[in-house]
Amino acid sequence: MKTKSHSNKKVNLITLGCSKNLVDSENIITQLRHGDWNAEHEQPDNAEVVIINTCGFIETAKQESVDTIIQFAQAKSNKEIKKLYVTGCLSQRYRQELANEIPEVDAWFGTLELPELLAKFDVDYKHELIGQRQTTTPKHFAYLKIAEGCSRTCAFCAIPMMRGSHVSRTIESLVEEAKNLASMGVKELMLISQELTYYGLDIYKKRVLADLIKALTEVDGIEWIRLHYTYPGRFPMDVLDVMAASAKVCNYLDIPLQHVSNRVLKNMKRHTKKKDVYEVIRAARERVPGIAIRTTFLVGFPGETEEDFEELLDFIREMKFERVGVFQYSHEEGTSAYFMEDDVPEEVKVSRANRLMEVQRSISEQKNAALVGETLKVLFDRKEGGYFVGRTEFDSPDVDNEVLVLADKNFVRIGDFAHVLITDATEFDLFGDVVPEHRT
Ligand code: SF4
Repeated sequence: MKTKSHSNKKVNLITLGCSKNLVDSENIITQLRHGDWNAEHEQPDNAEVVIINTCGFIETAKQESVDTIIQFAQAKSNKEIKKLYVTGCLSQRYRQELANEIPEVDAWFGTLELPELLAKFDVDYKHELIGQRQTTTPKHFAYLKIAEGCSRTCAFCAIPMMRGSHVSRTIESLVEEAKNLASMGVKELMLISQELTYYGLDIYKKRVLADLIKALTEVDGIEWIRLHYTYPGRFPMDVLDVMAASAKVCNYLDIPLQHVSNRVLKNMKRHTKKKDVYEVIRAARERVPGIAIRTTFLVGFPGETEEDFEELLDFIREMKFERVGVFQYSHEEGTSAYFMEDDVPEEVKVSRANRLMEVQRSISEQKNAALVGETLKVLFDRKEGGYFVGRTEFDSPDVDNEVLVLADKNFVRIGDFAHVLITDATEFDLFGDVVPEHRT
């Protein structure tokens, strides 16, 4: 496709899936803008070119990606757009099959084919732009992807197949990027990768996540650093010490545990046992008092019995995690679990997921009720439905609890911190009033 064949040079980029995909989209947008294209994120206004960055993680995510491609293929057939490109995990995984089924798509790209995608726009890939990423999130927070891929071998997971082995970025390049983000107004950095604790093993031959976090705390303007997606096996405990020592590192740990039954963990090839899981959670709570732990569980894995599931429920009741998410097992070809029988019926998977969240709902309700009367530091993200809506250091955007203050009673600026006296609580939200003298 030649640049001159386009009158408005507008590109609409659609992102599906997780925050890691969002960072990839932001990199695509940055490269295109430097190549003189007017690339926007999910802004359909008469863009002639659409890029869809897909997700191929589990069945529901794949279906959502396919539906979106079909929707835009239809738009192309109706001559509402001129070109349609598809990239990301789904495209990496099923390129040939999809190309046969959806011929309206002009070209398909894998997760490591950004230069090839840019070539369609007559834009040369510029490596130096990685550290100058233009974000699509609210100005005051950004995701910082510290590594690509994953070198673990969890039996249920298709990610390594789509994203390759773990490749860390250097501490220097990440600090440079953090400085750029801070200069654009970012106050909160969310560290992400498929699995943070592996960071450094490939390029420094040792785990250096704690060193990276320490270096990031030195960046002026960054006030909160949040850790997402850590692996419990051989967890680097020095990370907890950095968290306890620095007010800039949120007392928040996202540590997907998946399960707790030794039998299921073994079948999942998690290389952790129940005792290791207990050990890391206890260490986190001892070394970082008041820490909020977010975790995710996978129910309905092949061979999971009612007894295994009850064991998981008991564990959740005992550990009283601050935040919990749940996935139902999806039988993915190419994974090692695909060779096992997908023997937990769909309705049992659904019921287990619901039962698990029911237990968590009441834990969350009790924890939130205990916060009434406390004053918490809140970062405000947006105004919505008569409220200013923000988060505490114990909450990440999109997935965790929010703090709401009435807009006609309180004044805050979006992107600013303020202290809020909590006056009411529901299972997943807190309500309160700004304490004026505490505004920061
Ligand atoms: S650590 Fe996470 S991304 Fe890596 S294989 Fe396991 S589940 Fe997949």
